[in-house]
Amino acid sequence: MHSVAIVGAGASGLFAALNINLKNSIIFDKNSGAKKLSITGNSRCNITNAINFDSFLEAYGKNGQFLRDAFKIFFRDELIEFLKSQNIETTNENDKIILKNIKSKQFAQKLLKIVKNKKNIEFKAYESVLNIKNKDGIFTITTDKGKYTSKTVLLACGGRSYPATGSTGDGYGFAQSLRHTIVKPKPFEVPFCSDNRIVKNLQGISLQDTDIAIKIKNKKVKTKGDIIFTHFGISGPAILKLSEYDFQKTSIYIKFVKCTEDEFIKKMRKYNGKIKNYIRNYLPKRAIDYLIQIDKNTKEISKKELNTLLDTLFRFEMDVKKCSFDRAFITQGGIALKEINPKNMESKIVKNLFFAGEIMDIQGSIGGFNLQAAFSTAFLAASNINNLAL
Ligand SMILES: Cc1cc2nc3c(=O)[nH]c(=O)nc-3n(C[C@H](O)[C@H](O)[C@H](O)COP(=O)(O)OP(=O)(O)OC[C@H]3O[C@@H](n4cnc5c(N)ncnc54)[C@H](O)[C@@H]3O)c2cc1C
Repeated sequence: MHSVAIVGAGASGLFAALNINLKNSIIFDKNSGAKKLSITGNSRCNITNAINFDSFLEAYGKNGQFLRDAFKIFFRDELIEFLKSQNIETTNENDKIILKNIKSKQFAQKLLKIVKNKKNIEFKAYESVLNIKNKDGIFTITTDKGKYTSKTVLLACGGRSYPATGSTGDGYGFAQSLRHTIVKPKPFEVPFCSDNRIVKNLQGISLQDTDIAIKIKNKKVKTKGDIIFTHFGISGPAILKLSEYDFQKTSIYIKFVKCTEDEFIKKMRKYNGKIKNYIRNYLPKRAIDYLIQIDKNTKEISKKELNTLLDTLFRFEMDVKKCSFDRAFITQGGIALKEINPKNMESKIVKNLFFAGEIMDIQGSIGGFNLQAAFSTAFLAASNINNLAL
């Protein structure tokens, strides 16, 4: 009989395991563990954020208040202190706290190593949990390799995004079979996919501080930020921000140049040469080659041609849709928070069942909020499991 069985060795499961001090504990992962953590922050791991506490909670939308108690016990300072104890330095880039002296992959390996070296916990990699039953207060965990019993279970199986990392949404089924409600999972912080031929040609081009808008219920929602064209569509922080709105398909409008139309026309009138060369002042050559068809001198351009040119450069429009879970950074939805006690992360339905991380209906904006939530909820759950009289 185990004292605690942790399902999932991602950011939250590993951090819980690291803080569990009960003897005879066990942790399962269907993969090697920490696969998603290894690719966070574009390999730089944006571990938390430096903004003030209230804004921090707002980054999770209406569900942010649920994290208040977890953050009281273990927040940014405690996380940075833990990193320091492991000789991991951080740096602040526009409030994003990023690992400085190691990459995400090394960080993930470090956490895995600490947990694997712990004497009180058995690490079961490449062992997939298939179902969990609770009878007379004892949990039976069936995996693809065997059966285990445990007095407590911590579900830390993550959401459904980036399923190749192991986060395939299995935890929802386990929780449902234990009578929990699931708020429908949806892709969140997700790039836009497009079949537009031009987009495919622009692959690899990134534009900084760009004005973009999308149409939602016939209203334009605007933002400004970095975007990048990819082989499947468009990504980048500004796109992920817009993906937080509730829609499936939409039109996107991109302003490729950074001046006003008047300035653009005024300077163009003074320029004597090919129109494409003039636009080089504003856009990379490769983008111009694919976006601009007209090959005339600035003095020869007709009114109609100018209007087409302005439409392309100032409000380039195309149809996009949100990509699927495969490319989503986060899962929106998960275990309903009203069924979890925020003071200890224990189920209000099944005694000694705990949750940590993205499996719950908690989703933060990009910027380090999701990892902080994973570590804080894991710490709180582990501390409370340690205090149980088992
Ligand atoms: C590309 C990418 C970059 C990101 N970058 C950042 C960033 O820089 N900063 C940030 O704050 N957030 C970032 N995130 C989000 C962040 O990584 C997640 O929110 C976080 O990893 C969630 O941790 P978790 O432990 O809850 O779940 P996960 O990390 O998803 O871990 C869940 C684990 O459970 C295991 N598992 C699932 N089902 C089973 C089963 N049946 N049996 C056994 N094991 C199972 C999985 O194999 C997996 O290892 C990023 C996400 C992606 C996809």
